[in-house]
Amino acid sequence: MKRICENTMKAEFPSLSCNESLARSLISAFVMQLNPTVSELADIKCAVSEAVTNCTVHAYRDSVGTILMTAKSYSDRTVRIEIKDRGCGIEDVTRAMEPLYTTDRESERSGLGFTVMESFCDKLRVISKPKKGTKVTLIKTLSKICSAT
Ligand code: ATP
Ligand code: MG
Repeated sequence: MKRICENTMKAEFPSLSCNESLARSLISAFVMQLNPTVSELADIKCAVSEAVTNCTVHAYRDSVGTILMTAKSYSDRTVRIEIKDRGCGIEDVTRAMEPLYTTDRESERSGLGFTVMESFCDKLRVISKPKKGTKVTLIKTLSKICSAT
């Protein structure tokens, strides 16, 4: 059966650290409409928070730029979230996605953001161009709702 896109959301906000919690609240409100389990909701919020933090601390390192977050939900209970920046981009995406790889040792980062996103979602895609920006796509299919008897 062909799946249908049932709902969409677009949000744009500056890369201020306070907007990490804004992004968590927005995605939470969007996903709540689908009746997720507590752990599914926590996973999505955490993955979004890692992606948005990366825009703030890496993409726009010493400046403030725009973060664009879009979300779509489908009839098969899949949620697709895109987080885009127009910041510095990533030279080598494969390397950046390796566990414990970080370019920011000074701030004591652990290099685990992409690993967290990967383990909390069903799919993670990262497309990036140096000096152009980065698009992170998070895909997660929620479990079926059990109807009460
Ligand atoms: P942690 O997430 O554990 O605090 P981290 O941010 O360094 O550490 P990852 O989130 O896995 O680890 O990211 C790995 C590396 O990929 C970063 O150190 C950075 O070099 C690069 N990176 C990630 N996201 C972006 C982005 N949006 N723009 C530019 N570089 C990025
Ligand atoms: Mg990170």
